[in-house]
Amino acid sequence: MAIPLDTASGTASETASETASGTVSGTAPDAAPDWSRNWAGNVTFGAARWHRPQSIDELRRLVAHSDRIRAVGSGHSFSTVADTRGDLVRLDGLPPVIDLDPVARTVTVSAGLRYADVVFDLQRAGFALANLASLPHISIAGSVATGTHGSGDAQRCLAASVRALQLVGPEGDLTELGRDTDPDDFPGAVVALGALGIVTRLTLDIEPSYEMAQRVRVDVPLDEIAADFDAVSGAAYSVSVFTDWGGPDAQVWLKRRTGRGDSGWNGGRAAEQPLNPVPGMPPEFSTRQLDEPGPWCERLPHFRPELTPGAGEELQSEYYLPRAAAPAAIAALRGLGERLAPALHIAEVRTVRADDLWLSPAYGTDSVTFHFTWVKDLDRVRPLIAAVEDALLPLGARPHWGKLTALTPPELAARHERAADFGRLTRKYDPSGTFRNAFTDALLGTD
Ligand SMILES: Cc1cc2nc3c(=O)[nH]c(=O)nc-3n(C[C@H](O)[C@H](O)[C@H](O)COP(=O)(O)OP(=O)(O)OC[C@H]3O[C@@H](n4cnc5c(N)ncnc54)[C@H](O)[C@@H]3O)c2cc1C
Repeated sequence: MAIPLDTASGTASETASETASGTVSGTAPDAAPDWSRNWAGNVTFGAARWHRPQSIDELRRLVAHSDRIRAVGSGHSFSTVADTRGDLVRLDGLPPVIDLDPVARTVTVSAGLRYADVVFDLQRAGFALANLASLPHISIAGSVATGTHGSGDAQRCLAASVRALQLVGPEGDLTELGRDTDPDDFPGAVVALGALGIVTRLTLDIEPSYEMAQRVRVDVPLDEIAADFDAVSGAAYSVSVFTDWGGPDAQVWLKRRTGRGDSGWNGGRAAEQPLNPVPGMPPEFSTRQLDEPGPWCERLPHFRPELTPGAGEELQSEYYLPRAAAPAAIAALRGLGERLAPALHIAEVRTVRADDLWLSPAYGTDSVTFHFTWVKDLDRVRPLIAAVEDALLPLGARPHWGKLTALTPPELAARHERAADFGRLTRKYDPSGTFRNAFTDALLGTD
């Protein structure tokens, strides 16, 4: 039986006022965003019309009367994946739904919600998601559509927790697809770049709530990380390595589930005070560290939900590689370190378990991901992205759908063995091309 949770109460228990020292300059997550552009401001949406429907029926009518329509989530993608010249729809005006089914171990959420809107209600009800991305301010539907991930040798990308979804098709029709009920199409329909229809509801796997504790090791030699990558990435439930590739060392953030054994790996030395993954940024933005136990949703993200870090002063690119390539990739990036470091806020290495979702960058491959948070200067960053790709593409890299890349869409498609199957799926669910945009046309061809 589904139990509606109180969606109005989704706030963190560790509030800004508890911890903020007067130096925090974060904005409240609800500060009015500029919807004409993405979060970073590097993409100005070309939409002829914007819509914010208040009901599913209104959304269905909009879709039925549109030739070209797309949804945008929280606009955190750096690529043009969400853009359109037709109609662009925000779903955050739809009635918020968070329905818990403790027996089936699922939560069904409306597609306009962000992780931050859901996880605290889930936690209060005694349940949890398996993983989260670095910040909880991103929408669930948009994260799922691009194969967004957190970290963990045993953790798959966030889309892999989707058990079912509902979408509005080109005629305004409602379609339900489930992992168990539609085994042929479902793996192609989850990481779908918005190209199959407008997702209105997602049903996610949940598990009993768990506690975590986070600690940071500093001055960990990159030599040691490359030499025994499995020991480092396997040292806790979720592990992130932060470096700017310019020096010999890295920070390693270890998020362990309390009550589970710790691997005992202890490279470098323990951080003695809380840190921010981005050097020079205030630690108050970060989730609690120093091995202090707390709920999963207040440890898995790096950044706290009640403060928005940075507000768009960055660009990002990221690559998923077969994890066996980790040492070679680390060596290659260290070779570029002198060029990369001055243009980086920070870079991060994480791991993602293989999944079966056709367009997931971790499809069929246990992966290591190399993420780059660049300064917001595209002219300066573009050649560096190309240099990184020259180094990582021969190692099997697949770029993140939501981030910047020098690859053309056809080159991107060539890195996904199920891209042609996905093209067939879009023609089945969207024969009129209602949900296509320039990005998917270039990716899939226009025949
Ligand atoms: C500060 C920051 C931190 C980040 N951290 C991480 C991280 O830790 N890990 C990671 O992997 N990525 C990360 N990203 C990238 C981010 O997770 C992805 O870009 C993700 O797509 C963002 O979700 P969104 O809702 O903003 O999507 P948008 O950019 O709004 O949209 C992305 C795609 O989803 C589609 N879409 C959105 N809603 C719907 C819907 N209802 N129905 C159909 N299609 C829909 C859009 O059409 C578009 O194709 C980060 C980005 C930023 C800016």
